[in-house]
Amino acid sequence: MGTKTDKQGREIVEIRYEMAIPGTFATGPIMGHMLNKLKDKELWGNRCGKCQNVLFPPKIVCPKCFEEPTEWVKLDDWGYIATFDVVHFPTINPLTGIMREVPYTTLIVALPNGGGFFHFCLENDPEKLAPGKKVIPVWKDKREGRPSDLEGWVLEEGQ
Ligand SMILES: [Zn+2]
Repeated sequence: MGTKTDKQGREIVEIRYEMAIPGTFATGPIMGHMLNKLKDKELWGNRCGKCQNVLFPPKIVCPKCFEEPTEWVKLDDWGYIATFDVVHFPTINPLTGIMREVPYTTLIVALPNGGGFFHFCLENDPEKLAPGKKVIPVWKDKREGRPSDLEGWVLEEGQ
C-alpha cells in the first residue's frame, strides 16, 4: 500500500493485490488417458491407422494426414538423445512463475517404438551428453497424473 497523487494533485491510495482466477478443464479421452498412465510411470501414445506414425503426446487427429488414430501404443521406458541444449539464460517457468535455475538442459527424446518429444535432461554436463546416447526417465515419487510427474531424463548407467 502506498500513496500517490492524481493529475489534479489529489492524494490517491493505491492498494495492490493478486487476484486468483481458479479454473479447471476436462482433459478429454485422449489426453486424460495419457495423464492417467503417467501415474503408473507409463508413457502412452497413439498410432495413426493411415500413416502408422506414433503420436506423443497422443492426439485426436494425426497432424500429417488428418486421420483419427486407431490404437493406443505403450511407449518404451527409455529412449535416445536426438539432440540437446544446455540453457544458461534464466527464464520463468510458466507453470510455477519462478525463475528456473541455470544451467538446465533440454533434449528431444527419440523413443524406439515411435514418437519423440521435447523434455528436460537432468544432466547438465555437455561433455557427457551426445546424440544417440541412451536415456531413462526420472519419475516423481508421488505422481498425480500431471505432465510434471515425469521430471526428466538421465543417462543410463555406464554411458
Ligand atoms: Zn497419419
